[in-house]
Amino acid sequence: MSSVPEPPLRSLAVPPELLRAQLTALTAAGYRLTGLSEAVDLRAAGSVEKVVALTFDDGYLDFLDAGLPVLTDLGASATLYMSVGHAGEPASWLGPHAPAFGPLLTLGQLREVAAAGIEIGSHSLLHHPLDVLPPAALQREVIDSRDRLADEVQRPIRSFAYPHGYNGRAVRAAVARAGHDNACEVGRRLYTASDHPLAIPRLQPTPDHSGADLVRLVADGGPQLVPRIKRTAQPAWRVARLLAGRLFGVKLT
Ligand SMILES: [Zn+2]
Repeated sequence: MSSVPEPPLRSLAVPPELLRAQLTALTAAGYRLTGLSEAVDLRAAGSVEKVVALTFDDGYLDFLDAGLPVLTDLGASATLYMSVGHAGEPASWLGPHAPAFGPLLTLGQLREVAAAGIEIGSHSLLHHPLDVLPPAALQREVIDSRDRLADEVQRPIRSFAYPHGYNGRAVRAAVARAGHDNACEVGRRLYTASDHPLAIPRLQPTPDHSGADLVRLVADGGPQLVPRIKRTAQPAWRVARLLAGRLFGVKLT
């Protein structure tokens, strides 16, 4: 975000200078900052490294303009979840709030992001809540989006983020059948070993988190906040923590 949106979406965007402070604090606290699939692989390999997986939803243009330079400067990677059916267009699901978030990346810009070492994940085609779709539409949302993204960036798409966080057994099964091996939801808590790899919870940093706040949040999961916006909101970025061979995630909105 080049600016902070007005309420009620204010908590969903972090200005680039604050993103830099937050990520700098995590790095200083000893965390390696990666995309989610890389964190999953490190966990599977038994790594005991302190790792935080960074995820950014939707694929807004300001990820390229404002977020990527911060990541590059810090030697960090991340996973960017793209709703590829809206490439180059405003986020229509945000309704009147869409202008505050700007357009989504074009396909050419998405390739630029991938070439910079950022993992591209699928956020479905059109950002519909997937749990209410008929089976054929669900298949299209999870299969076509993955295929289109893979064609664009010329690499397999492993990770999926559920639009609006909605998932259930049928949705997770469709996501797995499409070829994804990990997926994340809203969560708002730390990951535990009993969590499903296709339902990894996340924490959501907000404009109210200083760097020190974020380090504390990642360390202990923070308070279990009641979400103010559940149905339409799309956070700007989130984190999941990998530590001592166990993957944790938390998220708050
Ligand atoms: Zn989204």
